[in-house]
Amino acid sequence: MTHPRTRLAGFAVPMPAASRPVASPIYQTSTFAFDDLDAVAEALQHPDRGYAYSRHSNPTVRALEDAIADLEGGTVGLAVSSGMGAISAALLALAEPGTHVIAQSPIYGGTHSVLTRLAERFGIAVSRLHGKIPAELVGVLRPESRVLYLETIANPTTEVADLPAMIGAARTAGLTCIVDNTFATPLLCRPLEFGADIVIHSATKYLGGHDDVVAGVMAFASRDLHHLIWRLAIDLGMVADPFAAWLVLRGLKTLPLRMEAHCDNAGHLARFLSTHPQVTNVRWPGLPSHPDHELAGAILAGYGGVLSCDVAGGCTGVRQLVERLRCAALAPSVGGPRTLITHPATTSHRELDRDELQAAGLSDGTVRISAGLEYCADLIDDFDQALKP
Ligand SMILES: *Cc1c(COP(=O)(O)O)cnc(C)c1O
Repeated sequence: MTHPRTRLAGFAVPMPAASRPVASPIYQTSTFAFDDLDAVAEALQHPDRGYAYSRHSNPTVRALEDAIADLEGGTVGLAVSSGMGAISAALLALAEPGTHVIAQSPIYGGTHSVLTRLAERFGIAVSRLHGKIPAELVGVLRPESRVLYLETIANPTTEVADLPAMIGAARTAGLTCIVDNTFATPLLCRPLEFGADIVIHSATKYLGGHDDVVAGVMAFASRDLHHLIWRLAIDLGMVADPFAAWLVLRGLKTLPLRMEAHCDNAGHLARFLSTHPQVTNVRWPGLPSHPDHELAGAILAGYGGVLSCDVAGGCTGVRQLVERLRCAALAPSVGGPRTLITHPATTSHRELDRDELQAAGLSDGTVRISAGLEYCADLIDDFDQALKP
């Protein structure tokens, strides 16, 4: 009998032989043991064939990567430590110093920051355009242009990008197309089908879906692009932790049910707010008054769980609303069970002055609402009592 120290160091859970776990186990291991030298070298060289070290590949993380590739209709997936990890890995891998990136505006705040601060540091030029007018793309195109970056549904205006038209123009120009599909999820939109090369999600939002994990995932049309970005993600250490990957996998099981409820609640709330005297400018792609309503109907299989509106009284009106809300919580993020509300003018868009806010289609009374999974009538009652003058 060996010493307890020796036995403890080699302790492992045996795989059950006659039965299998129904839920996927978490392979919470940093490294993998082999029987011979060649097998280690082979696994390190080809992460798609074996597992050697969890910064390179891990079975639980791989399960998530396969699931996202399947949902998005991609060839291969990649899971990383956050949505921003996915976005910066993709941009840094594709845009070398001296190249040019064309990006939609408005865009998620963190992506805006990468496209200004990081891009400048790495000598990458950036042009902005609307997500709907292909001629604009032709106007900003340069010989060194490499990437077109779009968001399916923009934050907090809920503008919908014309993916088929924009991606078509970018492909003609030889650009690689990246689409942040976080707000739509693969259930409402599959940008690879419109010709995108890479789809990115903050899995922190709808895919994880429970406000308990930070993670990012990507789906690729081709293995070559995957390999390029996987390599960079490994070098930069942007890997997904097995437990985080497991939480996202667990969330994915109920994504269709949750997404239907998020969209339903957002619709009911949008229609209620549209008739409310204290509220103007309700933006939700499902409303016939939304500028992109028709486009949304054509390219989305649902109108999403996020809406925004302007509350009477500007900041003061918003302050009263958020202090009185009971079901809905004041918190950044979207896509969880609880309805969340944010105030862009003092948070994501705080660097913009009044004119710039207006140019972005916002005001100091704009709130963004991520409709949660609450019983709809309770949610509407909550906003009704909170909006009483
Ligand atoms: C939250 C979010 C991100 C960033 O994701 P993290 O997981 O927070 O890093 C990127 N894009 C969109 C649209 C988001 O909502």
